[in-house]
Amino acid sequence: MIMVHVRIGLSCADRRSRFKKSCNSHDLQSTLSILQVLDALLSPGTVKRINYLITKGGSEALLHTLVNVMRIHPLDYEVILPLMCLIVKVGQRGVLGLCVESVRWHPRNHDKKVGQKAQEVGALNEILNLMKCSLPQANYVTPCLWAIKVCASSVTVGAALGKSGITRFVLNLLSPYTTRNTKAVRAATEALSSLLKSKWNSRRAVECGYIRRLLKLYDDWHQRDTKNKYIPIQRALLKCIKNITNLQKGKEAFRENDGMRVLLVTSQDCGSSPNLQPVTRLATQIMRKCYPKQRLPLLSLQSCFSFVLPNAAHSHVMGGPSETLQEDVAAKGNEEQDDEDEAENEESGFSEEEDDLETDLSRLKPNPEFDRPVEELKQYEILCPELDGYFQGSDSDDQSLIQDNASCSMFFGPSAPLHQKDSREWQRDSVREDPEKQHNLFRNRKPRQTPASSPGNEGENVSKGLPKNHCTHYDKASIMNHLKENMKQGLLNIQRDLSRINTDLQNTKAQSVTSEKYAGTPGPSWAIGGEHKYQNTGNKLVKMWKEIIPFHDQYVYTIKAEETKAVSGYKTLAFPDYWGHMPPRYQEPLMSQWNGGQRAKVFEDIQRFVNPGDVLNRVVFDTESPSLVMSGDDTSLNFFSKFESGNLRKAIQIRKYEYDLIMNADINTNLHHQWFYFEISGMRAGIPYRFNVINCEKTNSQFNYGMQPVMYSVHEALCGRAHWVRVGSDIYYYKNHYCTRGAEEKGQKAIAYYTLTFTVTFQHSKDVCYLAYHYPYTYSALMTHLHLLEQSLNPDQIYFKHQVLCSTLGGNNCPVITITASPEPQPEKLQQFWDRQYVVLTGRVHPGESNASWVMKGTLEFLISNNPIACCLRDTYIFKIIPMLNPDGVINGCHRCSLSGEDLNRQWSEPSPDLHPTIYHTKGLLSYMRSIGRIPLVFCDYHGHSRKKNVFMYGCSLKETLWQSKSSIDTATLKEDIGYRAIPRALEKICPAFTISRCCFLVQKSREATARVVVWREIGVLRSYTMESTYCGCDQGKYNGLQIGTRELEETGAKFCTALLKLKKDVFSCSTWLIQNSSLPDLDNELHNVKHMSHSNVCEDDEPPCPEEIDYYTDNCSEEEDDPIDLTTEADESSEDELCC
Ligand SMILES: [Zn+2]
Repeated sequence: MIMVHVRIGLSCADRRSRFKKSCNSHDLQSTLSILQVLDALLSPGTVKRINYLITKGGSEALLHTLVNVMRIHPLDYEVILPLMCLIVKVGQRGVLGLCVESVRWHPRNHDKKVGQKAQEVGALNEILNLMKCSLPQANYVTPCLWAIKVCASSVTVGAALGKSGITRFVLNLLSPYTTRNTKAVRAATEALSSLLKSKWNSRRAVECGYIRRLLKLYDDWHQRDTKNKYIPIQRALLKCIKNITNLQKGKEAFRENDGMRVLLVTSQDCGSSPNLQPVTRLATQIMRKCYPKQRLPLLSLQSCFSFVLPNAAHSHVMGGPSETLQEDVAAKGNEEQDDEDEAENEESGFSEEEDDLETDLSRLKPNPEFDRPVEELKQYEILCPELDGYFQGSDSDDQSLIQDNASCSMFFGPSAPLHQKDSREWQRDSVREDPEKQHNLFRNRKPRQTPASSPGNEGENVSKGLPKNHCTHYDKASIMNHLKENMKQGLLNIQRDLSRINTDLQNTKAQSVTSEKYAGTPGPSWAIGGEHKYQNTGNKLVKMWKEIIPFHDQYVYTIKAEETKAVSGYKTLAFPDYWGHMPPRYQEPLMSQWNGGQRAKVFEDIQRFVNPGDVLNRVVFDTESPSLVMSGDDTSLNFFSKFESGNLRKAIQIRKYEYDLIMNADINTNLHHQWFYFEISGMRAGIPYRFNVINCEKTNSQFNYGMQPVMYSVHEALCGRAHWVRVGSDIYYYKNHYCTRGAEEKGQKAIAYYTLTFTVTFQHSKDVCYLAYHYPYTYSALMTHLHLLEQSLNPDQIYFKHQVLCSTLGGNNCPVITITASPEPQPEKLQQFWDRQYVVLTGRVHPGESNASWVMKGTLEFLISNNPIACCLRDTYIFKIIPMLNPDGVINGCHRCSLSGEDLNRQWSEPSPDLHPTIYHTKGLLSYMRSIGRIPLVFCDYHGHSRKKNVFMYGCSLKETLWQSKSSIDTATLKEDIGYRAIPRALEKICPAFTISRCCFLVQKSREATARVVVWREIGVLRSYTMESTYCGCDQGKYNGLQIGTRELEETGAKFCTALLKLKKDVFSCSTWLIQNSSLPDLDNELHNVKHMSHSNVCEDDEPPCPEEIDYYTDNCSEEEDDPIDLTTEADESSEDELCC
C-alpha cells in the first residue's frame, strides 16, 4: 500500500532491470524498499513523523548513509538520488496546506540543523563533488542543488559554502528563459536564494554585480514566460534580489541598476492575475524596502506650536520634548530594522502580555490611601454643594445658582489652591457676568419638555421635544454688541465660507421651511458687517435651520467659542462646529476593500521615485511658513485648519488631484499623529481627489478594516443636511518611506511613518468641506451643550449644577456637573436625597477620542430626560460628571496629550497640581468623597479605541488577573466581590454596540497610572472602568457590519446609564414595571454563574491579519515559507512542460 505513494522518479521496472546487473542485488533491493517506505512516511501531512524521525537521529543516519554510498564506485545513482531527496524532505521548510480561502504554505517541522549535520559528517563535500562531476547531467545536478538549498538555510553553512566559491558556480547554472532543464534552473535559483541569506555571500554578490544579472534574468523570464508556467523560477529570482537588498549596499546597487523601474513595470504587467500574486507581492516588498528612507518634509518634527509651562513645572517634564522622542521610540517597538544587523532573531517564549499582568497581591487589592493630607481635601467640599445642609427645593434653587456663580469664581488655578483665587477671575464669563440678569433669566425659565428617551431619534422626532429659541435667555442687545465686537476682532469669519460657496442658496430646498415661525430671532453672527448678499441669505438660513439640530445654538456657540483659549490663537470657527451636526438618517456600512487596492496605491507612490518629473511637489498649505506657500493653478485645492481642534500642518500637491497631508504633533511633543481635522475648498465636483496623510504612527489602523473618515459639506448643511458623513474610497493604511531620520543619518533609531490614503469625490464644485478622523466635538461645543442642557430642564425636578473643577494650563475652565433629582422638602425625602450613592463619570482625557464626547453627550442628555429610567436614576444616584478632562488638548487639535506634552491618563498615581490640574483635582474630589465616607458606587472613564470594533469595558479583578497570569497563588482562599461584572453584563443585553466578549478585567502593570486602576486601588471603587468605544463600527449584534455614528455613540451613553439601574434594582423609588421593561438581565442569577473566565488580553489586537498583510508589514517579509519543491528527478525532456511549476 505504501508503495502506491512512492514518488521517486524511476519506475520499478526500470530499477529492477538495472538491479539485476548489480553484484549484491539483494542489499540494493532492501535499501530501495526502505527508502521508498521512508519517503511515503514523510509525505505531506505527516508532521509528527518527521519530528519523530529528526529526534531519533534520522537525519544523521540518512547523511551517514549518503556518505557511505558515495564512497562506493562506480556511483550508484539508483540509491543516491532517492536518498538525497529524503534528506531534502527532512530539511525543507513549509508544507502545502489548505486554509479557508486559498492554498497556502504553512510552516511545519523540519530539521533546521540539517546543514550543520551534513557539514559535520562530511556529506556536504560529497554533495558538492557529486554536483560538480555530474555536470551537465541535469537529472543528477538537480537533487544536489536542492540539497544545497536546504543546507544553506543555515547562514553559517551558507557562508562556508559561499567561501568555497559555490555561489558563483550556482549563478552560472542560471540561464535566460528556456523550456529545457527547467527543473535544474529552478533548483539552482532556489539554491542561490538560500545561499544569499548569508550576509557574507550577499556582500560578495553586490561586489560582483550579481544584482544586474539577476534583474536581467528576472525581466527575461517575466517577459517571455507568457503562459506563466515558470512562476516559481520568477519568484526564486526575486528572492535572490530580496536577500541581497537586505544590505544597504544591495539597495543602492538595486536602485543604480534601475531595479525600481524594472520591478514596477513588470509588476504592473501582472495586473490582478491570481497566479502572479506571489510574484507581484515579492516585487512590491522589494520596491518598498529599497525606496530610500526620507525625513518628513518639515524643518522640525516638533509641534509647530509650543506652550511655555509654568516655571515651577519645568523640572517635572522629564527630559523635555526632544528626549520624549527617544523614549517613545524605545517603547513603541516600531523601529526600522537595521538590515546590517547580523544577529539572528531567535524566538523567545516570552509573552509580553503575561509579563505585564500584576501578580503582587498587595497591589491587586484595593488599598485606599490618600495621596495628600486630608485637610487639603476640604477644599473640595464646595464641589459637593448637594451635601450642604441648606437645601430647600426649587424656589431657593435660583438663589443657590447665583451663589454658585459666586462659588465658581473661586476656581482652582493650576498652581494656587482654591481659596486663594481672586473671585474676579470668573467675571470673564460674559454669559454669567451679571448675576441679576442671570437671576431674571432663571426666573423666566419655564419647565420644558426634555428630549425623547432614546437619543437616536430622527431629526423630526427629536425636534418635537426640544427647547425652542434658546436665545431668549440672553439679552439680545448685549449679544449683538458682543458679536459686533467679535467681528471687529476677526473671530468670526464664517461669511468667508459662505462667500466661497458657488451656489444659489435662495433656491435650495431650505426654502421649503417657513421662516415666519422664527421671526424676531437676531441675525447670525457671521452676517454682521459681512457682504449683503450673504447676510440676507445667511439670516434666512439660520432662521430656517437653527431649531432642527438638537441641543445646538449658533449664538451660544459663538459666545462660548470666544471664551475658549487656544495656544495657536486662531480667529475662526469651523463651520460644522458653529452650525451644528445631526446624525444622518441612515447608518453607514463598513467599507469593503478589494484585494490589490493597497498595492495599486503603493505603485502610485513608487512612481514618484521612478518618474520624479511627474511630481508637482507644491506646498499649498503651511502653518509655519505661510509665505512659502506656492500658489497653485485654479484647480488646486485650498486648505485651512486654524480653528478649534484643527491640526493640519502642511499640505503638498503631488499630482493634479493628489495631496500629501502632514498633521501637527501634539503640543510640546513631536509625536502622537492620528487625529486630523481640516477644511478644504476650491474643489471640482465629480473628480476623485486622493489624499495621503503621511505621518501616521500606529502600526495598524481600522482604516484597513472598513472605517472611513468623516466629512461635512457646507453646501449640504445649508440645504438642510447638516451631517458629518463617512466618506472616501480606496482607503488603505500602510507603512511608507518616511521615517524620523533620513537614510544618510546614522546612530539614532528611526521610527517609520504610515500613510492613510483615501479618495474623495466631492458632490459640489466650489463647496467648502471639512474632513476629520472622527466626528469632531470641540470644547466650545461641550460648553454650549452644557449651557443648553441647563436651560432646558425643569429645576423643580432636576438638580443640575455646573461648576468649575479647575483651570487648565491653557486657562480654560474644566467643568464638573452634578445631576440628581431635586429633593422634595419633606425631611424624610431630604434624608433619602443625602443617602444617594455617587456615580462618577469622566471622559475625553485623550483629546483625539472625540467618540468619548459623543457618548458623554448621550449620557448627559439621557440623565436630564423625562425617560422613567432617567427619573429613577436621578432618584437613586448623584452623578458627578467631568465630561472633558483635557480641554486644552481638544482645543489645540492634539491627539493624546495635554499642553505639558504628557498623556494625562498615565498621571493618576502622582498627578502634579501644576502640570496635570484636571487629574489632580478630579482625584482630589474623589479622595474627598472617600474622606467623608462617600466612596462612589461606580467610576467610569469614557475613551475611544482606534484598533478594535464595538464598545467594551476594562475593569479590575484580582482573581481574573491571577488566573490569567497563571500565578501560583491559591485563589480559592481569596475573596472578591464579583459585582464588577454587573454593568458589563447588563450592557451586553441592552446596548447594541456593546460586547462583553471584548471586555477585560485584568490589572496590568503598564496601566497602573490610569484612572481605572488608581480609582480602584487608591479610592477603593470596586466598579472602576474604562469604557472604550470604537472609531470604526461593529462586527456583532444589531449593528454588525455598520460603521458607528454619533447616534449610536449617544445611545451607548444612554444605555450605560440604564445599566446602572441594575445595581439598584430593589431600590424603593423604582417600580417593578421599570425593571421589567428595561430588559435588564437578572443579575442575581447571573452572578451565581460567574465562572473562571477572562475573555481576552487587553493588549492583543482582535483583528485578523490585514488582507494585504504581506505588503503591509514590509519588514517582516524576510522569513516566508518556501515554495513547494518538486523533487522529481527525472530528466525526461518530453515531460518537462508540466514539471517545473
Ligand atoms: Zn483613550
